[in-house]
Amino acid sequence: MGDYAVAEPKVISLLSMSTRPFPVRRIYCVGFNYKDHLTEMGTTPTEKPVFFMKPPEAIVQNGDPMPYPPGTSDLQHEVELVVAMNIGGKNIPPEKVNDMIFGYAVGLDMTRRDLQREAKAKGQPWEMAKAFDHSAPCSSISPEMYTGVVAKGKITCKVNGQLRQSADLSDMIWGVPELVSYLSELVEIVPGDLIFTGTPAGVGPVVKGDHIEAEIAGLEPLIIDIA
Ligand code: MN
Repeated sequence: MGDYAVAEPKVISLLSMSTRPFPVRRIYCVGFNYKDHLTEMGTTPTEKPVFFMKPPEAIVQNGDPMPYPPGTSDLQHEVELVVAMNIGGKNIPPEKVNDMIFGYAVGLDMTRRDLQREAKAKGQPWEMAKAFDHSAPCSSISPEMYTGVVAKGKITCKVNGQLRQSADLSDMIWGVPELVSYLSELVEIVPGDLIFTGTPAGVGPVVKGDHIEAEIAGLEPLIIDIA
């Protein structure tokens, strides 16, 4: 018998180059943060960033296979810059945010697009479209002490060698300081939180056997096969 009534959760972590593993707490994601993705989704800009969450257990380690999830026939890739928080806080001013970042990673906000479309049409929550098992493949974290502030640079996603998404981080509607600052007005940010910062245009379906390469200039590429 352990110390709890049922098996306690284990800490989910991501490798971080040359430091100890980074323990993942909450995963916050931004709905729309690139104009061209808003256009392709037929959505109008929101006045403020829209956030949703995934559980830490959604993490898939770089190089591990992502099992094709049940309940969908339209699984889609969304390549995103991931920000890993070192220091938490409430009401963080934008100019303080860069000092609170542990590092950066490449993430895939994998989406059951058919369920998301259905939820949107009915005004229902997005959870089962976004927060399912294995829905957050993520590279190791490149510590900020090596990368410096990441605010521009190429972000791409290839499927089976074919370029699907290509943009620059500077195309974001809300930059990382604004996103984290606004999020910290809604919830207290804690060390270990990850923030997926939204995807550019070119999202599309993947099927079993597909090979995804997601890259951001200066960060470790994320390479995942759909199993
Ligand atoms: Mn996304």
